[in-house]
Amino acid sequence: MAARVMVFDTTLRDGEQAAGSRLGVEEKVQIARQLARLGVDVIEAGFPCSSPQDFKAVQMIAREVREPVICGLTRAVSKDIDICGKALAGAARGRIHTGLGVSDIHLMGKFGADKYGTTLMDKRQQTIAMAVAAVRHARRYTDDVEFYAEDAGRADRDYLVEVVTAVIEAGVTVVNIPDTTGYTAPIEYGQLIADIGRRVPNIHQAMISVHCHNDLGMAVANTLAGVGAGARQVEVTINGIGERAGNAALEEVVMALRTRHDLFKADTAINSRELYRSSRMVADKLGMVLPANKAVVGDNAFAHSSGIHVDGFLKDRATYEIMQPEKIGFPETGKVVLTARTGRHGVRHRLEELGFSFSAEELELVYQRFLHVADQKCEVFDEDLAAIVNDEIRSVPSIFELVYLQAKTATGVAPTVTIGLCKDDKEHRQTAVGDGLVDAAYKALAQAIGRKPILERYEIKAVTGGTEAMGKVTVCLLDEDVKVIGQGASTDIIEASVKAYLDAANKLFAMDGMGVE
Ligand code: MN
Repeated sequence: MAARVMVFDTTLRDGEQAAGSRLGVEEKVQIARQLARLGVDVIEAGFPCSSPQDFKAVQMIAREVREPVICGLTRAVSKDIDICGKALAGAARGRIHTGLGVSDIHLMGKFGADKYGTTLMDKRQQTIAMAVAAVRHARRYTDDVEFYAEDAGRADRDYLVEVVTAVIEAGVTVVNIPDTTGYTAPIEYGQLIADIGRRVPNIHQAMISVHCHNDLGMAVANTLAGVGAGARQVEVTINGIGERAGNAALEEVVMALRTRHDLFKADTAINSRELYRSSRMVADKLGMVLPANKAVVGDNAFAHSSGIHVDGFLKDRATYEIMQPEKIGFPETGKVVLTARTGRHGVRHRLEELGFSFSAEELELVYQRFLHVADQKCEVFDEDLAAIVNDEIRSVPSIFELVYLQAKTATGVAPTVTIGLCKDDKEHRQTAVGDGLVDAAYKALAQAIGRKPILERYEIKAVTGGTEAMGKVTVCLLDEDVKVIGQGASTDIIEASVKAYLDAANKLFAMDGMGVE
């Protein structure tokens, strides 16, 4: 019998916390919906007391994403727990994840003030009391309370056992034993988890959860060692994003358990065919580029190049392939799927196969744009279709709409761009000269929106091959400490660049309008 391992996804909390650029509430909801489709058991949706945006995101996800448990993080502080309890009020099943630092380094550092005790021994006893009080407080809001013993990897073992025993006694059902600093090696971490299982007298009343960081490249290995030692929940993120070097990658842990079922005899409820799409969605929304050799989901993860490998692979896939790309949901590349003669039904059918579902209105938007692109490039690939969807179905309302674009350049003439933006039914035109057309366009845009965000990053990528291919532009704009990602796609790169900038600008304006609840 395979042991069931619960997948606790923290992409939206530990992952987003580290990503540098902020996700809007609607984008987080979209990711949460995809995580639900992927089949995760728990979504850690945010840290509600950290900002009004985080509160709102947790609240929206709790209301709209019903199958997984929705979890919010808190410190072991009543005020945090109250805010978290409020954010989760609309959830079908809500979990509060509270806790505190348990290593001596954390105790002496974070709880250095005398009010937490004057000696290390005093501080240890006082923090146990704080932990127990926090758990009891959280239980007022939900029966599903998880406790994190921060920096457990470096904590005194006897003390850790004491803390875990006390919080289970106080009512937690999941104990998270994180290697917060990514310090431990798999053999040690496995022993740590086994120790908790052996030495905590009431451990049968709770599930052990593992939360590993990748500072030494061992997050996934440690997570698997934890499962081998009896942990039944893994805390992971899509693409392994997270603080510093990141967390354990969900796709790697899931596929390791499945591919090496003979060894681990444990499995998750993840629908692996959604892994590729989940990975690309998260990378796209955060404007990240995945390394081609990224395990499981990288572009080259299934590419065989050496002659001997290719020869062997062609004779029998199993010679060099331990898992199949179709099980991860890799699209078949280079396959022509649609042309300008494809009707609405055909486009809708293909979109559904790709996992998109739309209202009739949205479908019409996508279809009209598809016809336009199909006219220009004859053959429309799945990747093009995904770029069109990304471009047409915006996650924030468009405050500014692009209605006019003229770009002029020639040898010896300064590049000049005129932009017409529509806002509140009025068109505003601005013309600017720049070092190049993109520079000129961005100067005109800054004038038109009346704000001058810093362009932190500009990237352009061809969606598929050929000179008629769609270009996808990703920009990162920084305005008063808020960083946002914008994307735009078009067969014309100036237009794609303008759309990417406007997408980001619309997000900046949408964030301004976010109220505190
Ligand atoms: Mn963490």
